[in-house]
Amino acid sequence: MGNTVLIVEDERAIVEILKFNLQREGYETLEALDGETGLELAATRDPDLILLDVMLPKMNGFDVCAALRRAGSTVPILMLTAREEENDKVFGLEAGADDYITKPFSMRELMARVKANIRRRSLDAALRGPAEQLLRQGELTVDLSAMTVQKAGVPVEVTQKEYDLLVCLLSSPGRVYSREELMSKVWNYSYFGDDMRTVDVTVRRLREKIEDDPGNPRYIRTKRGAGYYGGE
Ligand code: CA
Repeated sequence: MGNTVLIVEDERAIVEILKFNLQREGYETLEALDGETGLELAATRDPDLILLDVMLPKMNGFDVCAALRRAGSTVPILMLTAREEENDKVFGLEAGADDYITKPFSMRELMARVKANIRRRSLDAALRGPAEQLLRQGELTVDLSAMTVQKAGVPVEVTQKEYDLLVCLLSSPGRVYSREELMSKVWNYSYFGDDMRTVDVTVRRLREKIEDDPGNPRYIRTKRGAGYYGGE
């Protein structure tokens, strides 16, 4: 059975285009045109992800998000924020949203975020349960419990940071990470001066280990001028 995405948005045109694209990707959809209905559907239908607009009739997106978290819900919530409202991103995250995307958004990016957030949730579930903890991409298999990498069944020796970088990128394919983000996520510190080279060098080393052709990478790809992303 497909994953279900709840769309909480009062602009019908946006609801329709989201619905169309999500269904085309195999998701089931639920729609709510106001915050109260959104909250009710979230509670009764247990969706796998919620796309939540901020400005909504009856109850705004921040309040819906905060109410769900207070009630103990761990469903991934992706807030749809207005580009000019920088504060919305912060409010959304503080209210417990997992991620946000600014309007107007590219459908491709939104679908990648939906996929990534649902996948991260299944990954988290796998890490909690006794099931196999594997991340697979093409010929690559990352065993998250043993912290090992194999390519076509052959072990690949990677350093801790190479491993962390690989898991970060493969966990949300298509999601572009800037060097700054990778520094903070993988190295857990902020960027200072030439430290950014660290990311490039680690990417290069990792590519030499896992790619068939490091000059034309398939697993760790470059988004020119933006950063790196895991291939799909
Ligand atoms: Ca709205």
